[in-house]
Amino acid sequence: MKIYLATGNRHKLEEFRLMFPEHEIVLPEDEGIAFSFEETGKTYFENSCGKAETLYKIVRAPVLADDSGLSVDALDGAPGIYSARYGNEAGLTPTPAEQMDRLLKALEQTDDRKAAFVCCLTLVTGPLRFFSVQETLTGSIAREKSGSGGFGYDPIFLPDGSSRTLACYTPEEKAAISHRGKAAAAMRRLLTDADKGVLYE
Ligand code: IMP
Repeated sequence: MKIYLATGNRHKLEEFRLMFPEHEIVLPEDEGIAFSFEETGKTYFENSCGKAETLYKIVRAPVLADDSGLSVDALDGAPGIYSARYGNEAGLTPTPAEQMDRLLKALEQTDDRKAAFVCCLTLVTGPLRFFSVQETLTGSIAREKSGSGGFGYDPIFLPDGSSRTLACYTPEEKAAISHRGKAAAAMRRLLTDADKGVLYE
């Protein structure tokens, strides 16, 4: 089944293609469809539903949206839903490496390194039908960056029980444990039902 992914983030596209091998996951921009969404929600759920509904109204076909981020205990859950925009002030748009440096600096004086990646995934299959799943990957923030895989904050995130950052994982290893991978696994089960005609009007 063809599913439009409500994002412009190609890293997410690659991850979802691995997680939904039996479906055709496409970006709106690759189909010549203009899509943008201003993230005004206060939660992952609000932003995820907002992205999914906005794109659904344009394409009128199955849509999947992901809103995700990194929540750090010692920073009261920041950067959280603002992870993509962390450090975006006074017209600055820092690179992921600069965002990680900023986070490492913010945690310099603390031993409380606990953090979690969060992903809220929403599938819209009809004008009045949607399904949302929110999942986490718990872990801690490393003292320095390492690894070259993945994207975003992966080089400073140590999954619980691991001495390697997420950026040292293969795409398959990351998909098996990640916030996005766990949410996608639940969504795949719903899509299996869709194949039986349960999800569609
Ligand atoms: P969104 O586009 O508002 O959902 O922003 C998600 C942001 O959270 C990304 O730009 C990254 O900064 C961060 N993020 C989400 N998932 C991951 C991940 O799997 N690895 C690393 N960073 C992530």
